Amino acid sequence: MQVKLAEHRGFCFGVEDAIEIAEAAVRDRGAGNVIALGPVIHNPQVVEKLEREGLDQSGSLETIEPGRSVLIRSHGARPETYEQAVARGLNVVDATCILVKKAQDAVKQLHDEGYRVVMIGDPDHPEVKGVVGYAPDVIIIDENSDLDAVLPFRERLGVVAQTTHSPEFAAEMMRRILVRPFREVKIINTLCLEVVHRQEAAVKLCGEVDVMFVIGGRHSANTREMVRLCIEQGAPTHHVETWDDVEPSMYAGCTVAGVTAGASTPEWIIADFVRRLEGV
Ligand code: SF4
Repeated sequence: MQVKLAEHRGFCFGVEDAIEIAEAAVRDRGAGNVIALGPVIHNPQVVEKLEREGLDQSGSLETIEPGRSVLIRSHGARPETYEQAVARGLNVVDATCILVKKAQDAVKQLHDEGYRVVMIGDPDHPEVKGVVGYAPDVIIIDENSDLDAVLPFRERLGVVAQTTHSPEFAAEMMRRILVRPFREVKIINTLCLEVVHRQEAAVKLCGEVDVMFVIGGRHSANTREMVRLCIEQGAPTHHVETWDDVEPSMYAGCTVAGVTAGASTPEWIIADFVRRLEGV
């Protein structure tokens, strides 16, 4: 099989930083003394590697003993999480991505300026759950929301989006807002360019290959968004975590395959995948 790799793929700087911060904390404080509030990133293979190195990722604030360290993962956390951690006598190690922090700051800024804040995002995603904690009563909307029911009438709206959304998706959601009679709408662009570059490269590759493989965790929002975009291009597309997920029927009759990977997929998984795909 001829394999073409997307120009932009795999680890972003936010994920690299989060892993480095987690590994350094475990080295400094000892295995078992640093507890993350859930998986550091949405990639099971990296999560397992960090567990082997001594990072506990199953923690909740209530169960961590005073004196130990709590790791805030790349998706960030609500302000109360920091306050509760300090009140319980925990050391806080913050691995929040700087772009997620910017989204948190944007929500606070819009609220302080008098806007009713709206976040375009998945209400179940940890980044969104954290970001909406930076202002009271933030309204979360996604493609299934009934905007007439959830948006206040004629208020001043301040809008941000989950960092991993595509510009196309965010723009479509903005269109749906703007056809309604709001007096004023202020947008702060919180989309992550690392994600946008990966999305654009994946879409470009779709036109050059018979089949697309998108490597990334099942719960990785940016991976799932790339899969959606590739399918939208009409490319037969498979979301896989590793080579173990591949069935021969996925590439039957194909001569050129495209490979890309989400922002939380390490290079060693991509390299192993490409080597095996080239061998079929
Ligand atoms: S995808 Fe973007 S926002 Fe998310 S961790 Fe990476 S750099 Fe940060």
